[in-house]
Amino acid sequence: MTFKELNLKEEILSAIEELGFESPMPVQEKVIPFMLENDADLVALAQTGTGKTAAFGLPILNMIDPNLKQVQALVLSPTRELCIQISNDLKNFSKFQKTRVVPVYGGEDIRTQLKQLDSTPQIIVATPGRLIDLIDRGKIKLENIRYLVLDEADEMLKLGFMDDLEVIFEAMPASRQSVLFSATLPHSIRAIAEKHLREPQHIKIASKTRLS
Ligand code: AMP
Repeated sequence: MTFKELNLKEEILSAIEELGFESPMPVQEKVIPFMLENDADLVALAQTGTGKTAAFGLPILNMIDPNLKQVQALVLSPTRELCIQISNDLKNFSKFQKTRVVPVYGGEDIRTQLKQLDSTPQIIVATPGRLIDLIDRGKIKLENIRYLVLDEADEMLKLGFMDDLEVIFEAMPASRQSVLFSATLPHSIRAIAEKHLREPQHIKIASKTRLS
């Protein structure tokens, strides 16, 4: 399969071509058409390094309106490192499409992030605690969110973000598409999916074969 067959816009195809991506990875073959063709929710069991970021990032960039100055997509990440990495990937994927992607995460002076939010981005990539701080300051509004991604959801719960996630879910419109990625599916993740996702479909991506 090719990226062109996945019906992505020219701007996006050019960007991934420049990055040297030749063909979609398995998680991308499954998640990209799913997000482009459905508004249903999804739980994807996938390890890190499988190409998850492009799997959710490319369809989101394909579907948001770059001319609309509203936060249309939110990606939640457990750590600052992953947050920065996802944000950089999304910036690379949107090289030929005017889209503002802003990462917000704990451990950095909030003033820098407040400044970056002066002009409303279309996509926010956030760690949960800092996101809530910025919502409380009236700096981020989630009322126009159309796409929500929870990346490494099991790690977020391990780090104690359960209560924060509940607050964030409540701040978003119900009519959104939610996609949850997790390497494992403990009871706590199933419970979140049950409570906050709408009859999600489940997919499983085989992890890379390891030679031992
Ligand atoms: P991720 O799981 O999103 O962190 O991606 C793992 C690595 O695979 C990253 O370095 C990506 O840049 C790279 N990657 C993602 N999709 C593709 C693709 N279709 N072809 C080649 N490399 C890719």
